[in-house]
Order: sequence, then structure tokens, then C-alpha cells
Amino acid sequence: MRFISTRGQAAATLSEAIAAGLAPDGGLYVPEKLPTLSLEDFDGKTSLPDIAATLLRPFFADDVLAPALDAICAEAFDFPAPMRDLGDGTFLLELFHGPTAAFKDFGARFLAACLTRLRAGAEKPLTIIVATSGDTGAAVGGAFHGVPNLRVVILYPDGRVSPRQAHQLGAFGDNVHALRVAGSFDDCQALVKRALNDAELQARVPLSSANSISLGRLLPQMSYYAKAALDHFRAHGETLNFAIPTGNLGNALACILARHIGLPIGEVLLATNANAVLPAFFDGGDYAPHASIATLANAMDVGAPSNFERLRWLVPNDDQLRESFRAISVSDADIQATIQDVWDRHLFAICPHTATAVFALDSLALDGSWAVAATAHPAKFESIVEPLVGAHIAAPPALAELLSRPSRADPVPADYAALVAMLEQAPEQS
Ligand SMILES: *Cc1c(COP(=O)(O)O)cnc(C)c1O
Repeated sequence: MRFISTRGQAAATLSEAIAAGLAPDGGLYVPEKLPTLSLEDFDGKTSLPDIAATLLRPFFADDVLAPALDAICAEAFDFPAPMRDLGDGTFLLELFHGPTAAFKDFGARFLAACLTRLRAGAEKPLTIIVATSGDTGAAVGGAFHGVPNLRVVILYPDGRVSPRQAHQLGAFGDNVHALRVAGSFDDCQALVKRALNDAELQARVPLSSANSISLGRLLPQMSYYAKAALDHFRAHGETLNFAIPTGNLGNALACILARHIGLPIGEVLLATNANAVLPAFFDGGDYAPHASIATLANAMDVGAPSNFERLRWLVPNDDQLRESFRAISVSDADIQATIQDVWDRHLFAICPHTATAVFALDSLALDGSWAVAATAHPAKFESIVEPLVGAHIAAPPALAELLSRPSRADPVPADYAALVAMLEQAPEQS
């Protein structure tokens, strides 16, 4: 299969697209043509790695990575995505059972499994540079920690991620370097973009990205929606609808792609925090990106959802796009009230991101069976969740282990020359 840019014809193989991140014309890579699969194609496939491999096989056709697809899926999908039944046809699809307790572990581990194979035997180490508002950096750090010939440099806005997120980012060590930037997430992202577009720097320090525009993260995220929908269809003979907490639109787009490919997925409801660019568009307004607003659901503090360009590629007519999906913006006050309400009704805690989708779904009172994507473990956001529910939220074992390690992040100004100096000086691990 060939991959093209949303902005032109630039064609690439899957491996080339995964290694490059962004297309040369600044667009995002998309498949030349989406494959279609039938339910029978999944006959006998019940485990997450098997369903993932079946779903991803057409995308890997003719690629150098094709023979390794089963092994890549086994490595990336080695933790479960269970459904928790909340009654009344509502479920939580728990995506936070990976090493850093957020759904991004799936995509980051898949990308790492691909890049490890693609870089085998390369002369210079590759530096994965990533800007994060918390969860991406941890997932990428965890996925690439200890991988030979690869180095990770994480930039995060100092003081603007949760204390546990900050600890996690600095706790990997070895080939994973955390930089706390005196600036906002947008500053971090601008620094990373500039480095990735700096050909002169890249001649000395080969760089790649691992942000949510990476195909190597986007495609595998279809898999857990496919498994949840297949399980539900096999048990109940009906499609499953999804409500998804949304920032850069990577996770929700994966669900939408899985539906286009033919999985038994019904409606897809997008829930954002107060950053309401998508809800404003779906309510009939123009697509109008703005600077991000800080909210309790910080991993969704996005003012310019990067994957919107892919959604428009998928459904080029804006009116048709508006008819296809709903999007709801949820305030911090409603996030707080929802965390309390779920605790009162069900006696367990949800994270602030998950709360946006629970609220959005409740506010619409829709028919059918719905799964809410639970994107992070509430223990990652204990400083928000614990005061609301009045109880201690224990960290899952993998997260507790990371939090027990020492943590170190180097301070850097939001200044490009300082970043370049750091990238050139840091000892390159091999
Ligand atoms: C990244 C993240 C999101 C948003 O996902 P996108 O793919 O950027 O839309 C939601 N919740 C959590 C916990 C996240 O880490």
C-alpha cells in the first residue's frame, strides 16, 4: 500500500511514512485508499494482537515490515483493553492498563516496535523528539526506554503538567532525556517543529517525531475499537457506539477509520474540554484554531487539533462532515461534577479526560449501546481526583514502580539555540 500527503501527491511506503512522521510538503500521511474488511475476515480472531494484525495487514502489504507484523502486534498489544459494564447499555473501554497508564502506550509501543526494526543497523543513533503536555512524553519514553540506537528527548512545559506526570517523565533515565521548558506547551511544540524542519541540524543529529500525527501511532489505535466492537457484535448482534475524549483527534480518528474499514461501529461522539474548536465547527461554524486554554483535562488542551486535516481528507465536504459526527465541549466544572457523580453512583474514580466523554454522553441521552474511551488511569491525576472523591486512589503497579524511581529533568529556556545546543551535546546512547 502507498501513502500520500493530505496536501499533495507525495507518495511513500508505510515504512517511509512511519520513519518520516510529517510528509515533506507539511501534510499528514494517509493511505492512498482505505481498505475494506468484512466481519468474516475476523473469523477465529479473538485476542487483541490477532485482531490488530488482521486489521493492519492491508496497510502493511508490500512493506518491508510486513513479515514482522504479527511480532510487532504481539509486542505492542501485550496488555488488555477491558470493557467495564456500567449498566444501562453503557460501558467503559479501559485503555489505561499499559506501562504509563494512558491509551498512548498502545500507539507509542507500536511505533517503537516498528522503528526498532527499521533502524536496525543504522549508523547514527536516531533521536525521537517529542513535545508533551504530559501523557505523550511518558508513553514515548516508556516505549523507547532501553532501545538500542535510539534516544528520546522530551520537552514539557515546566509547572504545567501534574506532579505525577512530571515525575514520570524524568524517571526513565538512560536514553530518555526530559527537558522542562520555561514556557507553554505551544512553545514546546514550536521548538520541536522547528527542529524537525531544520535540515542542517538533522544532517548532524538525525531526528524523528512521535507525536499524534505519526501514522505509527494512529493506525494501531484502531485495534482496540475493533476488538471492543467485534466482541459486542458477536455477543449482542448490534453495533457499538463510542464517546471519545478528544484533543489532537488521534484517538477518535482511529475509531472513525475503523468504522470506514467495516468494523461494526455506530456513532462516534467527540468530547472536548473548554478548547472547543471542534464543537464550534460541528455546530456549523468555521474551523478556527486558537491558542490552547489550560483545563483540568490537560492532555486535551489543544487549540489546533492536528488530525483534523486527516478527518477532512476522509470526508472532504464540510457539511457532510458536520452531519457525520457530534462534538461537545465540557467545562472544568462539569468535569469535576462528573468525577463526583461517577464515584457516587459506581464507587470508582475516572480521570478528568474520561469525564468529558461521560458528561457528553449523559447530556445527550442517546439510544443504543455506548462505550466511553477511558483514556487514562485516575491515579495519574490524583491532585484533581482525590479531593473530589475524598479517597486515596492507588496507582496501578507499573505507574507506582515508575513513581518510586528518582526523577530528573533539565531546565531549558524556550529558546531554539538552547535546544540545538542540548541536542548536539547530550551524550548519544547506543
Ligand atoms: C492524549 C490524550 C487524550 C487526547 O487524545 P487525542 O488523540 O490527542 O485526541 C485524551 N485523554 C488522555 C488521557 C490523553 O493522554
